[in-house]
Amino acid sequence: NFVSAVVAPGEIGVKFNDVGALEEVKKALNELVILPMRRPELYSHGNLLRPCKGILLFGPPGTGKTLLAKALATEAGANFISITGSTLTSKWFGDAEKLTKALFSFASKLAPVIIFVDEVDSLLGARGGSFEHEATRRRRNEFMAAWDGLRSKDSQRILILGATNRPFDLDDAVIRRLPRRQVCFRKYLDAENRMKILRIILNRENLESDFQFDKLANATEGYSGSDLKNLCIAAAYRPVEELLEEEKVIQFNFFFLHDLHSLLYRA
Ligand code: ATP
Repeated sequence: NFVSAVVAPGEIGVKFNDVGALEEVKKALNELVILPMRRPELYSHGNLLRPCKGILLFGPPGTGKTLLAKALATEAGANFISITGSTLTSKWFGDAEKLTKALFSFASKLAPVIIFVDEVDSLLGARGGSFEHEATRRRRNEFMAAWDGLRSKDSQRILILGATNRPFDLDDAVIRRLPRRQVCFRKYLDAENRMKILRIILNRENLESDFQFDKLANATEGYSGSDLKNLCIAAAYRPVEELLEEEKVIQFNFFFLHDLHSLLYRA
């Protein structure tokens, strides 16, 4: 009960094609994770070429880190275990050693597997000096020791994928373990990338034939992927209300979205 989800690759239901924009991030993850998990033999010779044990995704909220983590597991053909740093800090209080061992032994049975640690700064945050609680220190040390202790066979098939909005709060020792493995999500998307994301979000909706994606993309400057999704959800509710009143066919209308833009716009 200490993990939020365990999903097999075929059941995740999200692929790279469902993630709009973020092309550079997808390219980096292809080289760092998908190839090593799908073709481990390419990494089995020499000392320098090693698949990585951990990657850090960092960027502002709602930029698609969780969505991408799931899609990555599908693309890599890996099981997906999801845990949340802040939940763990309360659940693991006092039981860090036992639960860390359970997590890693569970993972090695499920390998190839991606362990997604959302809010990783809560679990592996910087040392708090003499004010730090003993349990916090132990939890971090146990996790790092188990991570370091992955046998080389397992290290090709178990990946820790941390996500954070606060990369500067992470412990230095964690950052050192991820030298070239940090992938940044930029806050601002340009109109072209917003349009790509809108096309994915509205992919299965019954849109008007002349729906103007470009107009909506231009009108949503400063929106993250998650803001765009929320905007579309809010717009989708209005025809449902009308349907109930007038029993009309649900149809998206650009002007609903455009009205909502002024309500939801975040400076
Ligand atoms: P947080 O830091 O708050 O956990 P996050 O970066 O993990 O946020 P997600 O939870 O992945 O963000 O994004 C929320 C939702 O926004 C996604 O489920 C998806 O519907 C939509 N979304 C965000 N980015 C994209 C994207 N690049 N392409 C398609 N949909 C996106």
